[in-house]
Amino acid sequence: MRKSAEIFQEASKLMVGGGCAGGRIHAALGTPFYIDHADGSHVFHVDGEEFIDYHCGAGALLFGWNHPRIREAIIKCVDKGFFMNFDSPATLEFARLFKELVPTVEKIRLTNSGTEATLAAIRAARAYTKKNLIIKMDGHFHGMHEMIWFNGGCGSDLDKYGQTRSVTPATPGFPAGAEKNVKLIEFNNLDAVKHVFETYRGDIAAIIMEPVNYDCGCVPSTREYMKQVRELCTKEGILLIFDEVISGLRFRPGSAQGYYGIKPDLSTFAKAIANGFSLALVGGKAEIMELFNPTGPVICSGTSSGNLMSVMAAIECLKMAMEPGFYDQVEKIEKNLCGELNALFGKHGIPGHIRSQGAQFAFYFGYDDPQMDYILSETVKHYHPQLYRRFTRECLAEHLYVFDGGEKPFPQHNGFTIAHTEDDIALTISKVDG
Ligand code: PMP
Repeated sequence: MRKSAEIFQEASKLMVGGGCAGGRIHAALGTPFYIDHADGSHVFHVDGEEFIDYHCGAGALLFGWNHPRIREAIIKCVDKGFFMNFDSPATLEFARLFKELVPTVEKIRLTNSGTEATLAAIRAARAYTKKNLIIKMDGHFHGMHEMIWFNGGCGSDLDKYGQTRSVTPATPGFPAGAEKNVKLIEFNNLDAVKHVFETYRGDIAAIIMEPVNYDCGCVPSTREYMKQVRELCTKEGILLIFDEVISGLRFRPGSAQGYYGIKPDLSTFAKAIANGFSLALVGGKAEIMELFNPTGPVICSGTSSGNLMSVMAAIECLKMAMEPGFYDQVEKIEKNLCGELNALFGKHGIPGHIRSQGAQFAFYFGYDDPQMDYILSETVKHYHPQLYRRFTRECLAEHLYVFDGGEKPFPQHNGFTIAHTEDDIALTISKVDG
């Protein structure tokens, strides 16, 4: 029996689904992907095989596994007694660096996960505005907490404003009536924003969005859409929350808000800011942030929030992202990898294309018109999940780890890191081509 099969058999008795890493199984395998160790752009499977990793910690890994500078930071942290639940000069250094990168974030609060950060942002928005309703984009994921994870059919059942008629929680176990606290609209549809703002005038606390929607592929917006949404929010006294848990640091130092030139009221970050260490943050305007304890009444706590190990790892990440040429290198890898993969669709006569945004990309199997990527209902109508499943299975056979999280009716995001070499990419292209 292969070692992975043995682990699965035993682990299934003790862990739901045979694993705990984000609750993930690779759909083509039907089991978790058990690895022994990781280095650079490669992961080493317990059965002894080596894979080029293109899932990269669900979008967390920008600098590669086992990066020497992060490793050194961890060793320093061990020397300091790897303490937690205390602040230190390292927390201050992190906050200073972060503000340099993302200046809209006047004050921050660290959390352990993206889920906690978005939960805190929503809570602060409600407390600040004294309103209840949250406007959310269909298909944007903000974590597993109540009230916010409503994907009402991903583009199905939309009225002419792109608003879903019936909003259902994406999971059982929500308190009855929770759906009354959130309205779902279609991303990149300005009429939907205007309509929902008008219909619920006076009740809306905030609108939350992934400024680049990575959870349904790799869907950017336009500067014009963002500018209009910002103006409408300001006019109506509604807070604008950017969830940059994936977009943060991924395609430029100032993140998506820097790219669009937009100042959200609150933002959330996680994943790449600490290269996968448990560190996330909510940040934004000082007068809203000061509502959090201890200066204000809104509770945002966490026993290991801001623990030294994650903070010290994150400091190295921010420093590396600030170095001249870092994002040129990201762009170079993106052009090389995604450009070549895109060309293969045409070469092999497969309908589809790649859409990328910095170090993150998605395979759009089923249609060629990239304009249709912007509107989720169009994507869902034309996307072919079965082709993607076939592709990921074949990739595994070729030792390329491309993630498939299940029967999703829209593309799933994958990514690369700064550690992906030209040889990795050349090998990948020749395997996908072959
Ligand atoms: N926001 C976004 C945009 C995400 O993609 C995710 C996780 N995929 C989260 C929030 C939740 O983050 P975490 O898994 O760290 O709780």
